[in-house]
Amino acid sequence: MGYPDNFEGFAVTDTAQWNTVKKIDFTPKPFGPKDIDIKIKACGVCGSDVHCVTGGWAQPDLPVIPGHEIVGEVVRVGDGVENGFKVGDRVGVGAQAWACLECETCKDENETYCPDWVDTYNDKYPDGSKSWGGYSSHVRIHEHFVFPIPEALESNDVAPMLCAGITTYSPLVRNGVGPGSNVGIIGIGGLGHFAIMFAKALGANVYTFSRTNSKKDDAIELGTDHFIATFEDKDWSSKYARKLDIIISCGNSSKNFDLDGYLKCLKVHGKLISVGLPEEPFTVSPGDFIKNGTLLGSSHLGSRREMLEMLDLAAKNGIKAWHEDLKVGEKGIGEALERCHNNDVKYRFVLTDYDKAFN
Ligand code: NDP
Repeated sequence: MGYPDNFEGFAVTDTAQWNTVKKIDFTPKPFGPKDIDIKIKACGVCGSDVHCVTGGWAQPDLPVIPGHEIVGEVVRVGDGVENGFKVGDRVGVGAQAWACLECETCKDENETYCPDWVDTYNDKYPDGSKSWGGYSSHVRIHEHFVFPIPEALESNDVAPMLCAGITTYSPLVRNGVGPGSNVGIIGIGGLGHFAIMFAKALGANVYTFSRTNSKKDDAIELGTDHFIATFEDKDWSSKYARKLDIIISCGNSSKNFDLDGYLKCLKVHGKLISVGLPEEPFTVSPGDFIKNGTLLGSSHLGSRREMLEMLDLAAKNGIKAWHEDLKVGEKGIGEALERCHNNDVKYRFVLTDYDKAFN
């Protein structure tokens, strides 16, 4: 059985062999009136894919097919779809597949915080069906989480924006970042490189914190105004004390993460928003916050409205992912997961050549 009853994808079946995938057939959720089927053309490889398949956050529901930065073509539209999608449209899907859209949280455009939200992969819908990600031939998603892609954006340039981009754009705009804001960005990876570009596009003065000087030239090309190598610069936290309104932390590890140093760089009541989700906790005490009354928080993806705004901003400003492309398949996915794990990518892998991997 093939499409539309079964899809094909590349699955991790054992966390001990997280960089090895094998092709499987799987049954997607039952097709509902609001669903859209998408034939996948490209998919980014997110740091979250690595946390998931290694079991670093928790044991995944194996087999797991990761991938939540998807661009493809609409091949089937449910009869209750209202957003005007039609067969042949080029669309994107990010890290969320479903929310109830009825609770107060959803009605306030906070659907990424719906208590019943469903992730694009390694999650369960209310009816018990499993969600499967974009290292696959197709994906089936509720229309609210399907986004039209502006013509000006190439598929491989935009795929990583659907998770990495929106996750940084949302906290920037929700915290009022604009001309004259002083914004710190921690970690130049998939999320961090977008954070620099979006903060700059919004008019902010950008201060980028990376562990070493190895990414300095890239950070400058991405648009940063200041660059700080925290493992190499002496006294960086004193030098930049009380300069920043907000810091967006995109770091994926808490190893030697100098939280106190970063908090020192915030103005009074400044915020550090960690969109990064390290596997080990930060160690904090109220004393870390009292000197300048700072706040620590987090942020999850971004709403549909923010996603459409971000895509528009990217199209108008020529913002694109920096990406390296690999063919979807055992070899390409294995290499992408392994190198992403080793922080060896500038700054996102995009899986391509879907037509060759799937019939
Ligand atoms: P990448 O692997 O592409 O980048 C991670 C970056 O973190 C590295 O490039 C590095 O930057 C920085 N880093 C690593 N260790 C440390 C450390 N100890 N201290 C400071 N910085 C560090 O990952 P992604 O950008 O794809 O993802 C980043 C994180 O965001 C992940 O934890 C991921 O799960 C999470 N995420 C969260 C989402 C949300 O909704 N909140 C959505 C998507 C992802 P450098 O070399 O410059 O120091």
